[in-house]
Amino acid sequence: MPRPRTFHIGRIDITPLLDGDLDASLDKVPDPVDRAAATELIAQAGGEKALTMDCHAFLLHLPEGPVLIDAGTGTMMHARLGHLHARLAETGVKHEDIRTILLTHAHKDHFGGLVDEAGRAMFPNAELLLHEVEAAFWFDTPPEQMPERARGSLHLNAKAFGPYEGRIRRVAEGEGLPGIAARLAPGHTPGHTAWVIETGAAPLIAWGDVVHVAALHLVRPETAMIYDLDPATAFATRRDMLQWVVDNNAVVAAAHLDAPGIGHLRRDPDRYSFVPLD
Ligand SMILES: [Zn+2]
Repeated sequence: MPRPRTFHIGRIDITPLLDGDLDASLDKVPDPVDRAAATELIAQAGGEKALTMDCHAFLLHLPEGPVLIDAGTGTMMHARLGHLHARLAETGVKHEDIRTILLTHAHKDHFGGLVDEAGRAMFPNAELLLHEVEAAFWFDTPPEQMPERARGSLHLNAKAFGPYEGRIRRVAEGEGLPGIAARLAPGHTPGHTAWVIETGAAPLIAWGDVVHVAALHLVRPETAMIYDLDPATAFATRRDMLQWVVDNNAVVAAAHLDAPGIGHLRRDPDRYSFVPLD
């Protein structure tokens, strides 16, 4: 696996940390019409491998200290994942140095690395920042009122967040850290969040799971996948955010786009393309 590389965007230094990769499947496209179109797009994009998603977290090097955006999968998924801790070690930043972790949402490929296999906190000094809408959904909703898909992962949420009790800060829209603001980007989960980071130059946006499979969602943003709890809302968010990124010439830090997971979007007549920074 390549060693982490740091990118300089205005005054911000950011290091993508590749946790590993995971396979999507056309079976995850629920609508038969969409699935036929998706099958075609994946074939055009080179076949099955276009359904493999990288899984990135991001390390920000701020004057106040290092800040992590998402925390990888830890031991909650499979053997091709869970490399965040090794990648972090290669940067020279220690787990105990991290005081803040910004979470895009509460799914296991973003929070799994908060704990070890035994459920102990990996970041002894970190406060977790989560949008208040996301926190309310996962922590305050009676399980019987949750969609089944969300209910099925509650035990993992408890494992990851339990050891951080008292260290979870719910932030309102626009709050976060100095120069970093939470922006609700709902649909994938109710409180799915993009973190918008001022750089002194183009904005940097860590958009979590706004796009899963580039070959599908950058070409046909309306393609639903079962990963999104509310596909129609996820589509509206994706459509608006893709446009915002291009209009603002923003740099995207994307959890599931190809390594290094950081780059620009290009708008062509019939699609968007991800142009990684080099
Ligand atoms: Zn994800």
